[in-house]
Amino acid sequence: MTEATGIVGEFLSLKEETDADILAMQCGDFYEFFADDAELVADELDLKVSQKSSHGSKYPMAGVPVDDLTPYVSALVERGYRVAVADQHETADGHAREITRVVTPGTHLATGDDSAQHLAAVVRHDGGRGADGDTYGLAVADVTTGRFQVTQLDDADAGAALTELYTFSPAEVLPGPDLRNDDGFLATLDERSEAAVSLHATESFEPGRARHRVREQFGAETLASVGIDGSDAAIAAAGAVLSYVEETGVGTLAAVTRLRAYGARDHVSLDATTQRNLELTETMQGDSAGSLFDTVDHTVTAAGGRLLKRWLQRPRRERGELVRRQAAVAALTREAMAREAIRETLADGYDLERLAARATSGSADARDLRAIEDTLGLLAEVADAVAETERLADSPLSDVLAGPDRAAAADLAAELDAALVAEPPGTVTQGGLFVRGYDDDLDALIEEHEAALEWLETLPDREKERTDITHLSVDRNKTDGYYIQVGKSETDQVPDAYEEIKTLKNSKRYTIPELDEHERDVLRLEERRHEMEAELFEQLRGRVADRAALLQNVGRALAEVDTLASLAVHAVENDWTRPELTDDGRLDIEAGRHPVVEQTTEFVPNDLDMRPGERDFLVVTGPNMSGKSTYMRQAALVTLLAQTGSFVPARAATVGLVDGIYTRVGALDELAQGRSTFMVEMQELSNILHSATEDSLIILDEVGRGTATFDGISIAWAATEYIATTVRAKTLFATHYHELTSLGESLPTVQNVHVAADETDGDVTFMRTVRDGPTNRSYGVHVADLAGVPEPVVDRSREVLDRLREDKAIEVRGGESDDGATTQAVFDLSSGQFDEGARQVDGSSDAATTDETVAETIDAETEAVLEELRDIDVNETPPVELLSKVQQWQTELNEE
Ligand code: ADP
Ligand code: MG
Repeated sequence: MTEATGIVGEFLSLKEETDADILAMQCGDFYEFFADDAELVADELDLKVSQKSSHGSKYPMAGVPVDDLTPYVSALVERGYRVAVADQHETADGHAREITRVVTPGTHLATGDDSAQHLAAVVRHDGGRGADGDTYGLAVADVTTGRFQVTQLDDADAGAALTELYTFSPAEVLPGPDLRNDDGFLATLDERSEAAVSLHATESFEPGRARHRVREQFGAETLASVGIDGSDAAIAAAGAVLSYVEETGVGTLAAVTRLRAYGARDHVSLDATTQRNLELTETMQGDSAGSLFDTVDHTVTAAGGRLLKRWLQRPRRERGELVRRQAAVAALTREAMAREAIRETLADGYDLERLAARATSGSADARDLRAIEDTLGLLAEVADAVAETERLADSPLSDVLAGPDRAAAADLAAELDAALVAEPPGTVTQGGLFVRGYDDDLDALIEEHEAALEWLETLPDREKERTDITHLSVDRNKTDGYYIQVGKSETDQVPDAYEEIKTLKNSKRYTIPELDEHERDVLRLEERRHEMEAELFEQLRGRVADRAALLQNVGRALAEVDTLASLAVHAVENDWTRPELTDDGRLDIEAGRHPVVEQTTEFVPNDLDMRPGERDFLVVTGPNMSGKSTYMRQAALVTLLAQTGSFVPARAATVGLVDGIYTRVGALDELAQGRSTFMVEMQELSNILHSATEDSLIILDEVGRGTATFDGISIAWAATEYIATTVRAKTLFATHYHELTSLGESLPTVQNVHVAADETDGDVTFMRTVRDGPTNRSYGVHVADLAGVPEPVVDRSREVLDRLREDKAIEVRGGESDDGATTQAVFDLSSGQFDEGARQVDGSSDAATTDETVAETIDAETEAVLEELRDIDVNETPPVELLSKVQQWQTELNEE
C-alpha cells in the first residue's frame, strides 16, 4: 500500500464514521479535503483543487493551512453544512487521526454574527387515551450564550409545534424519532425555515436516557422545580439537545447553566408567515433594513440587540411582566440625562453571555478575560446611576439590577484585575499575561528569566569594553540562536575565544561558551515561563468558567437595561405613547401610525376601534393603494409592540392582550414575489381557522384573491362567517370583493370601514383616513389609467363599468344596493343560472364572451357541481371541508 492510499483511505474511513457533510482532516500543517468533499469545498469557497494519486487512481484534494481552518469552517457552516474536523496527534509509532469535533449550524461557536443561534430538538409523543392531538416537546439551546429553554405542547398538532419552533428562527433542528419519518412535517419545516435538519441518534431521545442526561446537566431536582418532571416529550427533546451538543464536541455544555421551562400560554403565537408579513426582523425582500427590529433598535450592545429581537419575536401574554417593562421604559423616557449616561456606560461593555461560553469551551484568551473584567465592573456603575436617580430607583430597573450577585461580580473582577496585565497579548502560550505578585513561583521564574535576559542584553557593552570593538551586537534568529555579530572591519580584533559560525557580506557571527550556556538558560526559562503562564491561565479561565452562571446573570441584566433604554429612546424620539393593557379584548387606537412607514412618510394618523361583541370583525375596503394593508399591519404591530412592553405609535391606545396574531396575505400579492401558491394560502387559512381563538387577532389581506373570482368570493365569504360566528377572534379583513361588505348587514359583529379616497372628475385623491362604512366603488379603472393603459381602453372600461353597475351585475344576491333595494345576483344560487341583467351589456365583447362561455358549460357535470353547491349548508360545514369542496368543484369544472 502506498502512503497516498493510506491517507485517502483513512480519510474515507473517517468520513464513514460521521454524519457530517464534509470532513477536514489534518495532515501536518494542513487540513485536507479529499474526493467529493474536495470538489464541494473548492466550489463553495473558491479553493484550488489538485490531484492526489493513490493506488493507481487520482483523487481531488484541497487544503487549508492549520491556522486558517476556522474561517473556512465558519463559511461552510453558514452555508448550512456540517463539518467534521479530524485532528492529528502524535503516538508512539508516528501519528493518528480522529474526529475531535463536528461543527454544525446550531453548534457553531465562531459565529461572526451577534444574533442568537438556536439549536432545537422537537419530539412528538402519541397523544393516546382519546386525545385529539399529540404531545410535542421542544428544547432550544443557544450554545454561544448558554441559554436553554424547553416547553411541552399537549394535545397539539404539527402546525402548533412548528409555529412554536419558528419563533426561535432555529439554525438547526433535530427531529425526534417519530417526526423524522413524517414527510409532511419535514417538508413544511424545509419550506418555512432555513434550519438545517440533522438526524441525531434515536436513543438520545429515549425518555429514560434523556431524563438521566438532563439531571446530569442541571441536577436531580431541577425537573421538578421548573415543573416539567412529568413532561416526557419536553425532557426527551432536552436530553437530545444536550447529548448532541456534547457529541459535536464544541465544549460549551458547561455554559448551559440553567434550564428554563416555559408554558405554551406565556407567549403570543406568531407563525412564520406572520413574522414575515409583519416584517419583524426582515422585510419581505429579505433585508434587515426597514424591518420593525431595525426601526426600533437603539441598543448599544450585542446582547441588548439580541434581547430586543427576542422580545419582538416572542411577545408576552402575561400583563404583570409587560407592565413591569412599561414602567421601566416610562421612567427611562423621563430621565434623559441618566438614560444617556447609562447607555454610554453600557456601550463600553462586551458580550458577557458569549464570553462565558468562550470561557467554558476553553477558547477565551487573556483579552477575553480582561473584557469580562471590564464588563463586570459596569454592573456597579449602572446600578449606581439608577440608584442616584429617584425615578429610576423607584422603577423596576432596580429589580433588574438586583438580580445578579453584585458582590460576586466585584470579586471576580478584582481577581481578574489582580492577575492579568492591563493589555495582555492575544495568545496565551507566549507568556506576558500575568502581573507580578500574582503567583510566587511564577514571579521567581520571571526573575530568573529576566536576570538571564539581562545578562544577554548587557553582553554587548561588556564585550565592547573588553575587546575595544565598536561594531558589536548580540542578536538572535531561528537558525543560529543567540550570536555575537562583529562588523567586517573589526573581525581581526576578536578574541581567540570567539568561535566563528557564519560569514556575511559586512559582518561575521560568533559564539562564545558563556553565550551558549546563557542561551540554553534563557530558552529553558522562557519555555518554563510560557508553560507556567499557560497553565496558570488555564486555571484562571477554569475559575471564570465555573462562574459562567454569574457572567450570564450580569450579562442578561445589562442586556435588559440596554433593551429597555432602547425602547425608551425610540418612544421619546418618535412621540410614542404608553398603551393601556386590558383583558377585555378591546383594541382602541387613537391617531395610530405604522411604526415603520411613519419613518419615511408624512403619515396620516388614523383611528381603530374594535370591541368584542360589537365590532369584532372589520371588513376594510378602499381603492388600491389607499392604505388598507398598512392600516391592518399597523393594528397588528401596535398590538405586538404593546405585548413586548414597548410604547406604541399612537396618541392613545388601549390594547386587549391577545394570545396570538395571525396574518395571511392573499396569494396574488405573494405570487408576484414567487413565494406562495393558492394551495399554501388555503393551508394557512385553514391553520388560522383552526388555531385562532376569541383572544386572537387575525389580519386577512385580500385572502381568496389567488383564484378565480367566484371561488375567491365564496371562500372569503365562508371564512368571514366562520370567524365571526365560531372563532370570534378580532379580525381585520381587507378585500377587493366589494360584495363582502354586505355581510355587515347579516352578522351583527361584522362592521365595514373604508380608507377614504376622493374622486373628482375621474381623479382619485387618497385621504389615508379610515372611516366607518363600506366604499361604494372600486377604483381599478383609475389604477389602469395611472398605469398608462391607453386612453380608449380606459374610457371604454369606465363605460362598461358604469353599465355593469347600473345592472348590479357584479353584486351577489343577499346584499343591498345603495338605494336599499335587494340586488340581483350575477350568479343566482337558487336557479344555478346567470341573471338576465348581466346579459344585457351589449357591445361589450367581454360580457358577450362570458355569456357564451357560461351557456356552453352548463352541462351535466356543471349541473352536478351546482347541485352540490346549492345544497351545502355553509353554517354547518367545517371550513376546511368547505375549502376542499370548493377545490373539488373547481377541479371538476376545469376537467371540461
Ligand atoms: P392598499 O393595501 O390599500 O393597496 P397600502 O397599504 O399598500 O395600500 O398603501 C399604499 C401606500 O400608501 C404605501 O406606500 C403606504 O406607504 C402609503 N400609506 C398607507 N397608509 C398611509 C397613511 N396613513 N399615511 C401616509 N401614507 C400611507
Ligand atoms: Mg394591500
